[in-house]
Amino acid sequence: MTSIPQKVIMEYSRLIEVVNGYNYQYYVLDNPSVSDSEYDRLIKQIISIETDYPDFITQESPSQRVGGEPLSSFAQIKHVVPMLSLDNAFSDKDLMDFDRRVKERLNLLTDIEFVCEPKLDGAAVSLLYRKGQLAYAATRGDGSIGEDITANVRTIRSVPFKLRGTNIPDILEVRGEIFMPRSGFEIFNRKALVNGEKTFVNPRNAAAGSLRQLDPKITASRPLDICAYSVGQLEAQEIPASHKSMLESLSIWGFKINPFVETVTGVNGCVDYYEKMSSQRDDLPYDIDGIVYKVNDLTLQKRLGFVAKAPRWAIARKFPAQEEMTRLIDVEFQVGRTGAITPVARLEPVFVGGVTVSNASLHNGDEIKRLGVRIGDTVIIRRAGDVIPKIAKVVLERRPLKTQEIVFPERCPVCKSAVQKFGEEAVARCSGGLFCAAQIKEAIKHFASRRAMDIDGLGDKLVDLMVEKSVIFSVADLYDLNHKKLIILERVGEKSARNLINAIEKSKTTTLEKFLYALGIREVGEATASTLATNFGSIEKISKASLDDLLEIDDIGPKVAGHIVNFFKNPDNSSIITALCEAGVSWQDVDLENYKEAPLVGQTWVLTGGLVSMSRAEAKDILQSLGAKVSSSVSTKTSQVVAGPGAGSKLKKAKSYNIGVMSEHQFIAFLEDYR
Ligand code: NAD
Repeated sequence: MTSIPQKVIMEYSRLIEVVNGYNYQYYVLDNPSVSDSEYDRLIKQIISIETDYPDFITQESPSQRVGGEPLSSFAQIKHVVPMLSLDNAFSDKDLMDFDRRVKERLNLLTDIEFVCEPKLDGAAVSLLYRKGQLAYAATRGDGSIGEDITANVRTIRSVPFKLRGTNIPDILEVRGEIFMPRSGFEIFNRKALVNGEKTFVNPRNAAAGSLRQLDPKITASRPLDICAYSVGQLEAQEIPASHKSMLESLSIWGFKINPFVETVTGVNGCVDYYEKMSSQRDDLPYDIDGIVYKVNDLTLQKRLGFVAKAPRWAIARKFPAQEEMTRLIDVEFQVGRTGAITPVARLEPVFVGGVTVSNASLHNGDEIKRLGVRIGDTVIIRRAGDVIPKIAKVVLERRPLKTQEIVFPERCPVCKSAVQKFGEEAVARCSGGLFCAAQIKEAIKHFASRRAMDIDGLGDKLVDLMVEKSVIFSVADLYDLNHKKLIILERVGEKSARNLINAIEKSKTTTLEKFLYALGIREVGEATASTLATNFGSIEKISKASLDDLLEIDDIGPKVAGHIVNFFKNPDNSSIITALCEAGVSWQDVDLENYKEAPLVGQTWVLTGGLVSMSRAEAKDILQSLGAKVSSSVSTKTSQVVAGPGAGSKLKKAKSYNIGVMSEHQFIAFLEDYR
């Protein structure tokens, strides 16, 4: 036996104690205290010590144990076949080492067939069926004893109570992952915030926490789903020979199997699959934290067997983390177009979810209070999918001695007007209105933006400069700009001044809906602007519409109606509209008598891949003019997808949902019918 230096013993014990503490928070309380990546780093340190001194490995070590102790508030269920964890691979090399180990152990020189499966980030569950009827459901627990969560699992609609099809086994134990889709998680957390209830750091903890509720009604109210991925006990007349055919049987018996499961040959196939799924990860409606590779042949699986807490025939190749820890350096308060004051967290740059993040929105004052965050704190940042990064949690145990309270300003940081809160709104706003340079700048940027008045060459920096130098005070002043006023600005040369004046001139001819959208009325986006235009026909009628007139329109609710009425009641806004019209901004009113409902009303289209004969923005405009909504993601609600060259995950998803797909060529032929 090699002797172990005292220093290493102390470090080893410390690490075990710290990680076991984290395990308790994560597995028992469903409330992690540190990011997964930090946890994984500590586990690596433990394993590195254990590799150097294998004789000293203790059963207390988290490397030897699966999950956490089952909660005593639930009845316990003993797993006949232990529910293990998975070994991790963090690089292609780790994956290649795994492939080599498998081949060596099996004494094989030929390539192995692997089943590749997205690693869903939820909670493992075991479902036992006797003669086709669901008998019980259990959590993984510590791998040998789980919690009886039958009543809760029965509330999940995609869990079959009774198996379908034929050849129903006498005993079937299905293993799968219960997860909360991202959209459900966001909605759940938002509602919890409003009701002052506990929020979850990520969909994984939300799923695990929802499953371990003592009242099944609570579980029933949570948006949970399940995918089956393997079998524990099986007593049947026919036993499939491969993992893939086992999954196919599960599908026939009524279980959801992940649509991205694929069989590949050799480690190169595994690497290709990883690359492919990496590029699709952000577009999936649920979190995946890696890929699981499993030896397909069940006889080979049996020969390979298990080590302490994981099978030798499978490995999880982890994706880059979506949560990381970093430090909050400062908070700045930004003023938006409608005066909304948003606290923005300035962070020590950290690589998370595939990008370097140095800012995160803190939304509003309530969010700062809820998080209990202070400047100087260590925080967990979460960036999943294309969602903007957010602070998920403060790591209290790492709070330094000196931190600073975040004080929400009482005066606007730009114009010093009072900051106010209206009604039940969580958002605080600057009351400066048109006196606030920040609001003026944002209003002008919005007015000039591509989907509004489309003034080419009027970038954000130039708008900032023109407002700061008092060259313009409102959107109406844009049409008063001339060569003399522009040329004195630092950033503007002869040519750009000329181009800008031409672009401003060109923007004068617009449509009623674009003009309405450009005005920046609160909560009036492109769709509402278009609804207003096609229901009232002219700006005069819209400006005179009462709350009741507006509420008669299907898509307009009381809040938006209130914003529209208030906007037109404000004499400053009316005089800006008059000034714009006098400057020559014009459009054609909508002929309501002869207006036919656009042919694609009620449809949602998605554009993906490149288009050759037009830009995406042009295609979007055309579709919207025909009444369609254009969305950036494919869902079951999508009516049609237009896929150009290079289309990837969205195209695949459309196909898996059986949604119609057009090539650009077909799209153009389709549009011909409406010209
Ligand atoms: P794991 O989550 O890394 O892998 C095993 C689990 O993967 C299985 O139990 C199953 O639930 C799931 N899985 C998803 N799809 C699967 C599929 N297709 N086939 C098979 N299994 C599939 O292992 P674990 O032991 O549950 O957790 C370890 C991980 O949890 C760590 O790597 C760490 O990131 C995280 N963790 C974090 C903390 C913390 O404090 N932040 C604490 C403990 C654990």
